[in-house]
Amino acid sequence: MTDLSVDVVVIGGGATGAGVARDVAMRGLSVVLVDRADLGQGTTGRYHGLLHSGGRYVISDPESARECAEENAIITRIHTDAVEQTGGLFVVTPEDSEEYSEGFMAGAAKAHMPAEEITIAQALSREPRLHKGTKRAFAVLDGTVDGWAMVWGAVESAKEHGATVLTYHEVDRIHRVGDRVTAVECVDRKAGGRITIDCRFVINAGGPWAGRIAGFAGCHDVDVVPGRGIMIAMNHRLVNSVVNRCIYPADGDILVPVHTVSIIGTTDVKADDPDNLPIPRNEVQQMLDSGAAMIDGFREARAVHAWSGARPLVKDNRVKATDTRHMSRGMSVLDHLERDDLHGLLTITGGKLTTYRLMAKRIVDIMCEQLGEDRPCTTDQEPVPTSRKTHNYKVTHRLEERDHQFQEDQIICECELMSRQMFTELAEENPDATLDDLRRRLRLGMGPCQGGFCSTRAAGLLCTNGIQDSAGATLELREFMKHRWMGLWPILAGAQVRQTALDEWIMRGTLDIDHAPGDENPPERYPVGVPADSEAVEVAR
Ligand SMILES: Cc1cc2nc3c(=O)[nH]c(=O)nc-3n(C[C@H](O)[C@H](O)[C@H](O)COP(=O)(O)OP(=O)(O)OC[C@H]3O[C@@H](n4cnc5c(N)ncnc54)[C@H](O)[C@@H]3O)c2cc1C
Repeated sequence: MTDLSVDVVVIGGGATGAGVARDVAMRGLSVVLVDRADLGQGTTGRYHGLLHSGGRYVISDPESARECAEENAIITRIHTDAVEQTGGLFVVTPEDSEEYSEGFMAGAAKAHMPAEEITIAQALSREPRLHKGTKRAFAVLDGTVDGWAMVWGAVESAKEHGATVLTYHEVDRIHRVGDRVTAVECVDRKAGGRITIDCRFVINAGGPWAGRIAGFAGCHDVDVVPGRGIMIAMNHRLVNSVVNRCIYPADGDILVPVHTVSIIGTTDVKADDPDNLPIPRNEVQQMLDSGAAMIDGFREARAVHAWSGARPLVKDNRVKATDTRHMSRGMSVLDHLERDDLHGLLTITGGKLTTYRLMAKRIVDIMCEQLGEDRPCTTDQEPVPTSRKTHNYKVTHRLEERDHQFQEDQIICECELMSRQMFTELAEENPDATLDDLRRRLRLGMGPCQGGFCSTRAAGLLCTNGIQDSAGATLELREFMKHRWMGLWPILAGAQVRQTALDEWIMRGTLDIDHAPGDENPPERYPVGVPADSEAVEVAR
């Protein structure tokens, strides 16, 4: 049975797929975007938060550095609600050799990337917690970007231009007639049932799953290597600008201030399966050591959550198949007409969140050429709807908004200043959303208490506002806390142990969450599995 018929189906609602859907819709073609989960629940929701200036690549990959510098300016302009213009520093710590820094300014000039060497006194006045033994410092235009806000912005824009978006729809078949793709078939993971979408073209933006998706069309051996990296959120903003170690890309070399926390990352190890991403304790240790090399007092801060993501790296014959650190971070387009004699399918992988718009432009240009249509890209010209009325994001914005209405609206999440009205409005607009879906929009439970206080209030609101019955709200709460605790397990130490013991007492001792009404064996609603190895726990961010 055919349920929908469009020009283009985009598979994958991460940054790349959202950008492709927006681009296709803005060129006037009809498009459906499908994702097997919520938007941005793949790598895009498990990344570091850095809007690259290009500085990380000036020596190892000048082409990527130039692309980042150009896209940074565009993304800052069209996604104002998602981007904080923090600026960034590249610093030579007491543990680092100065070799890399010797070529930094020349590399920046070659990549047309703004950069300036500043004195240590200037660097310390910008970032007082910087290690007092810092040897050199360069100022760059790094920023931070909320990947979820960016994806929703792009998707809202796509919808405004006529796109349809189907979340929790998993593609498991791509139909072909002879040498041509004709339709995509998906299973509806929430409501059950299947739908078929007839189309002229399919763009596979499945990130680390892109190889598997290409296989549905009979295009085998698409070698996307998941490069696993872990990140750890520290309980407050230890820095207000991005701080990078000025060395060849290495583990734990970047500290990014994101909203109310700072995130240290990351590692880079080949994973076997993007659905099964461990967080080994030795890597946690490595991150904390590297943070301490950059920032005085790093270890006194509390690690509140850890997660792991998989870079969709395309296998590069120049390096060993397990050496993901040195695989290219550039984007990769697979033209299945050239590769497999199949019309109507392109795959796009690799790249970075910072360059998502450019990746979309490149692939949609190729698609238009294959369709024989002259439709220029305009995605750099129009801010997304969620950004039209705002200035660039400021970390203090919720405090400023609260100032005007703190008498009327109750705070539900103290860590993130999320109010009752913010929560109920979004929950009522999205009655099918899980508490975890709402978390990604509102940052519910993402601060130091990791949901200990706010999650019970939020679940209560679902119930009192008639969005869920008590059994449904209990189920939501259990699932939500399960995933919060998974991200705590590998990093539990110091003050966070006391916090977690308190949270557990609230949930188990006071609320008796395990015996409250609700299905005790609910179906798995999150696509990502948890490995049995207790030393290496997969987490949702
Ligand atoms: C540890 C780490 C740190 C990073 N840090 C940064 C950074 O600081 N700055 C930066 O610019 N970049 C960073 N990156 C890179 C960036 O996160 C990725 O390049 C980007 O998020 C990839 O987006 P994507 O849309 O291609 O893939 P994804 O976000 O993974 O999207 C793929 C989507 O496909 C969906 N899908 C899979 N199978 C199916 C199916 N059968 N049917 C339907 N849907 C399906 C998935 O659910 C998923 O949503 C980092 C990456 C990692 C791993």
